[in-house]
Amino acid sequence: MTAILLDGKQLAQTMQTEIAAQTAELQRTRGLRPGLAAVLVGDNPASQIYVRNKRRACDKVGIVSFLHELPGNISQTDLLALIKRLNTDPAVHGILVQLPLPPHLDEAAVVDAVSPLKDVDGFSPQSLGLLAAGRPRFLACTPNGILQLLLRNNIPVAGAHVVVLGRSNIVGKPLALILMQKGVDATVTVCHSRSKNLPDLTRSADIVVAAVGKAHFLRADMVRPGAVVVDVGIHRLPDGTLAGDVDFAAVRQVASAITPVPGGVGPMTITMLLHNTLQAARSI
Ligand code: NAP
Repeated sequence: MTAILLDGKQLAQTMQTEIAAQTAELQRTRGLRPGLAAVLVGDNPASQIYVRNKRRACDKVGIVSFLHELPGNISQTDLLALIKRLNTDPAVHGILVQLPLPPHLDEAAVVDAVSPLKDVDGFSPQSLGLLAAGRPRFLACTPNGILQLLLRNNIPVAGAHVVVLGRSNIVGKPLALILMQKGVDATVTVCHSRSKNLPDLTRSADIVVAAVGKAHFLRADMVRPGAVVVDVGIHRLPDGTLAGDVDFAAVRQVASAITPVPGGVGPMTITMLLHNTLQAARSI
């Protein structure tokens, strides 16, 4: 068996076209243009690229983006003062603080300072808490992107057993909460570094999501023939190529469908950020 590819690049384009139409409609009917403020601290090259890509995507769909580039030695007080200003700025509907922050800053305090009504990353305790309570507001972007990839490719999720490898606050945990919601209706198992008998668990899955942060971690013998595999990981290998958390070449011979890296989950993450920013503006 050779798995079909779940093409995140193509779906992201389709969804961005839909978001652009809805953004234009919002402007036409209410004179409102969604705005996203990106806060970039220091000169981490990867963060600079992520923010640039997010702003480009905003441009494409008609969302205004505001860039706040701050020196790497900015104080916690000054950063919090900026967030406070953005929280009350009527042109800003979403606030994105690019992580990681330099080590002298208290990342949790900064994430907590973003208004829950502008938390378009979906990382705040309020966003996660509302999701856990079954009243979601902003869904974290990578997990929601994964859900859209599955649903829009007609992969049955309701009733399916999904094994999620990883329990981080930005991927594994919110993904598990999203998948177990009423209406999505998956049966979810969450695994982490202390889980026992991992291959037995992954082999029992209809859908495996790998978000462990280790290149080629999920091997073919860990996947039930015909299962669907979603690869969240992204790694630059010594030879310069990109790889995911899945041994793609081997697993695609076993799985029925699989996301590539690059071009799978990554483009969906940015698209769901645009979706959340539009949603934030609409709910004004
Ligand atoms: P993370 O915070 O490092 O979390 C990794 C998780 O994997 C942890 O829960 C950890 O368990 C678990 N884990 C580590 N080793 C394991 C093992 N041997 N067996 C089972 N579980 C193990 O990573 P993350 O932020 O969730 O990101 C995961 C990957 O996705 C990374 O490669 C990251 O670059 C990528 N990513 C991609 C996107 C995208 O848009 N494509 C977005 C976000 C992240 P413990 O909790 O026990 O430590």
